[in-house]
Amino acid sequence: MEETQIKELKTLLSTPKKIVIIPHKNPDGDAIGSCLGLYHYLTQYKHDLSIVAPNEYPEFLKWMPGESNIIKYEYQTELASQKIKEAELVFTLDFNSLSRIDDVANALESFKGDYIMIDHHQAPDDYARFMYSDTSMSSTCEMVYNFIDFFEDTNKIAAEIASCLYAGIMTDTGSFRFPSTTSNTHRIIANLIDKGAENSYIHNAIFDSNSIDKLHLLGCALKNLVALPAYNTVYITLSREELQQYNYKKGDTEGFVNYGLSLQGVKFAVIFIESVQEDIVKISLRSKGDFSVNEFSRSHFQGGGHNNAAGGKSDLSLTETTKYFESVLKDYKSQLQ
Ligand code: 5GP
Ligand code: MN
Repeated sequence: MEETQIKELKTLLSTPKKIVIIPHKNPDGDAIGSCLGLYHYLTQYKHDLSIVAPNEYPEFLKWMPGESNIIKYEYQTELASQKIKEAELVFTLDFNSLSRIDDVANALESFKGDYIMIDHHQAPDDYARFMYSDTSMSSTCEMVYNFIDFFEDTNKIAAEIASCLYAGIMTDTGSFRFPSTTSNTHRIIANLIDKGAENSYIHNAIFDSNSIDKLHLLGCALKNLVALPAYNTVYITLSREELQQYNYKKGDTEGFVNYGLSLQGVKFAVIFIESVQEDIVKISLRSKGDFSVNEFSRSHFQGGGHNNAAGGKSDLSLTETTKYFESVLKDYKSQLQ
């Protein structure tokens, strides 16, 4: 973030403001963690703060301090719209295009205040007066830590802020194993532990809270795995019927795609999940090395994200979607070898 922007924002935030903080649709650990971390930090300056999430998020994120204050637009549309109507400042966290918040974008149409973007995805849209966008960052939570540091306020990071930021960095780095994890990420993580983040408790709350249904669904997903060795690619499918058979709940398929990537030699892994609520197939894409799933998803699946992790969707049936996938994959043969 530019020095002049930091100074300007510092002045703006030095008096109490009505502020709304927004994560992307289907928020993950980084989205919820960054919103709550920022929320607890800004509370110390007596701002009037609300977090408006577009929709529901998984149970395994609900241990985070302050979580019960999050307003869910899909269930509390009126209250959320009221908060947005009154807002003077809107923070958008862990996304960079208003298309990523669905109907919340309509509620924002009349918003005349300033947007502050904190985000690490590629190709940011141009809607924010204050922009902290850095694709080299492991997570938005790491950026929120830096943001607090820009204001020379790391001494204000209490245990609840530390826990939320730790959770987001941990989930977005695949427990500190993705290449986006730097020595600086680890330095920040060390500081967060010193400030009261209980690392083992947090890992347990997020990763060791599976239901038996989720583990059985994982078994089903792994059985459905298709390997395409000529392309060093694997894909997994889950149909609506399979999800229903194992009493699917939001978040149950989180992380499944990474099992594809764990197969020796695989460079590209995809999971196609038939949506229970909408008439679409939700897609998660992961890669190792130079192959950009962000570009692949932008070109073929109405999505985007990062070089090695992206999302997208398809309006075709599940079978038609995988057929289409296999047909476009042919153009990437040389890149995947
Ligand atoms: P996931 O596969 O875990 O849903 O998402 C992987 C990454 O891609 C995340 O950083 C997520 O924010 C991003 N992402 C997921 N879906 C979309 C999408 O439809 N559009 C864009 N631009 N990014 C997405
Ligand atoms: Mn993120």
